[in-house]
Amino acid sequence: MTTIAHQLRLVHDRIHAACLASRRDPASVRLLAVSKTFGAEAVAEAVAAGQTAFGENYIAEGADKIEALRAWPADVATGTGAPANALEWHCIGPVQSNKTRLVAGHFDWVQSVDRLKIAQRLSEQRPPELPPMQVCLQVNIDGGANKSGVAPDAALELARHVAQLPRLVLRGLMAIPEPAPDFVAACALHASAKALFDQINASGALPVPMDTLSLGMTADLEAAIHAGSTMVRVGTAIFGGRG
Ligand SMILES: *Cc1c(COP(=O)(O)O)cnc(C)c1O
Repeated sequence: MTTIAHQLRLVHDRIHAACLASRRDPASVRLLAVSKTFGAEAVAEAVAAGQTAFGENYIAEGADKIEALRAWPADVATGTGAPANALEWHCIGPVQSNKTRLVAGHFDWVQSVDRLKIAQRLSEQRPPELPPMQVCLQVNIDGGANKSGVAPDAALELARHVAQLPRLVLRGLMAIPEPAPDFVAACALHASAKALFDQINASGALPVPMDTLSLGMTADLEAAIHAGSTMVRVGTAIFGGRG
């Protein structure tokens, strides 16, 4: 077994244990492997171990990796003979206006939408031959000064507008809470994101309820799962430190 395959197995074990501890179905939490700064070879190793969903922060780097894997012969790219276009790519980093076209043409999901202008551009620029872009709104859940994300009290209004854009599907919320001193404090931060998610869904403002709450990374995935995360985004625990 490669190191990446082994680390993936350990992360799945953590997710499984956290779900059992919180009396949740382990199938209710997806794993997004965050491959930023690691090469296409590392992604291919993870794919060979069964991982299909990958997250990238830096748009040009992500687009290059997506193209590199698509260009590889299927058995090389995935080790299984499965086509590399069966992979699912999530943009999880800040999106500036001048990058929306690159995002719209390459990624399957964008989890970092925090203003309407970006959403409108993604909808307009989504190539017609591709399925609609799956979108999460990034929420600045604890008001961190240097963090992107829509303010919690503006999230409902943004969700209402994004849900109406023709080439986007609003899937949920994403947040990156500040590191917390302990498990209880981490749970409280994540719980505020879950409360906002439930509140927007209960508002009746959306034609279809959101189904994705993207919360939790290497350091805090247990707290996120305890609070109700449906997707954890894990880099370090799978690919190693980024130096
Ligand atoms: C880098 C990053 C992750 C993964 O963080 P790790 O601590 O390496 O697991 C998750 N989400 C976002 C938005 C990131 O930028």
